[in-house]
Amino acid sequence: SFRMAAVGVATKFLTDRVAIVTASTKGIGFAIAKRLGLDGASVVVSSRKSKNVDEAVKALKMEGIEVAGVPCHVGIQEDRKRLIDFTIERYGKLNILVSNAAVNPHYGDILSVTDAQWDKMLQLNVRSALQLTQEAVPHLEETGTGAVVFVSSVAAFAPIQGIGAYSVMKAALVGVNKALAQSLAHRGIRVNAIAPGIIQTDFSRILTDNEESHNRILQSIPLGRLGQADECADTVSFLVSDEASYMTGETVSINGGMQTRM
Ligand code: NAP
Repeated sequence: SFRMAAVGVATKFLTDRVAIVTASTKGIGFAIAKRLGLDGASVVVSSRKSKNVDEAVKALKMEGIEVAGVPCHVGIQEDRKRLIDFTIERYGKLNILVSNAAVNPHYGDILSVTDAQWDKMLQLNVRSALQLTQEAVPHLEETGTGAVVFVSSVAAFAPIQGIGAYSVMKAALVGVNKALAQSLAHRGIRVNAIAPGIIQTDFSRILTDNEESHNRILQSIPLGRLGQADECADTVSFLVSDEASYMTGETVSINGGMQTRM
């Protein structure tokens, strides 16, 4: 994660960049915030609970990262505004937006999903990602190196048994990614996504707590194990860096070799 500058001093390649990562107090979001911070970015972490935000800020400071935090429920407009305003007040600009938040209120056949569950997922997993991007665009554009990353899922390409409705939301997010990449290219903002496989976090417990489901999952992963949150983070750091200057609209899979049709 270092590039050698001409003078021979190791320069962190995201130095002088400012990043927002949503839902970043644990799991994949936290790992991404840590990676971006270790690569030199100033990072603003957030999630719903201020206690979680405080703990994440503390943990990242221990790593020597320039970090600040503010609570933000991504479904609440005032919260998203506070997140962006806080970032601009604190660091003066915004180069990087990582939209990582998602919920899964339904487990079971897609036919049994309720309207309320469906609407909640659409709101939090898809619409809020678009809204946060809409709100961040003026700031991202101003930097000339704006980059957005969405956290989709392997489930976007091949629905996972038991989380069919959630899988549809992750497919929609791939569509949002592509449409925004087209929309924002001429404004100097690149937009990409990652599609993690089954990563060992609290979120994926619904798939791994039950032994039968856990075994079925393991059989579908050629590398023979679940992924770790840290294994998703380097790709994000790359995608938002100048190293990926010709990449936009792409979705990068990080899934241990799981088969998908696309
Ligand atoms: P996780 O470990 O359970 O962490 C979830 C984080 O989201 C927490 O920091 C939580 O903090 C925050 N959060 C929850 N609701 C929120 C909201 N409405 N607004 C803002 N923050 C909220 O989950 P994860 O596994 O890292 O998942 C992160 C992302 O990766 C999700 O988009 C998920 O769909 C995606 N993903 C996960 C996997 C996997 O296998 N784990 C695979 C593919 C994709 P608070 O409780 O304080 O809000």
